[in-house]
Amino acid sequence: MKAIRCTSCHRSVSPQGRNVKFSCPQCGGFTIWRCEVCRKFSVRYSCPNCGFEGP
Ligand SMILES: [Zn+2]
Ligand SMILES: [Zn+2]
Repeated sequence: MKAIRCTSCHRSVSPQGRNVKFSCPQCGGFTIWRCEVCRKFSVRYSCPNCGFEGP
């Protein structure tokens, strides 16, 4: 199983714990992961698949 990384800060995240994942709202073709820290500070993410940026 490959490591999961936070889409915003690229730290490794565990599937357990307070991290969230969701499909890209625009293309739906990329799974975005956000760690607890990025959620807390509303760090922006961008989808490598379509370039969508969101909070
Ligand atoms: Zn993060
Ligand atoms: Zn996308």
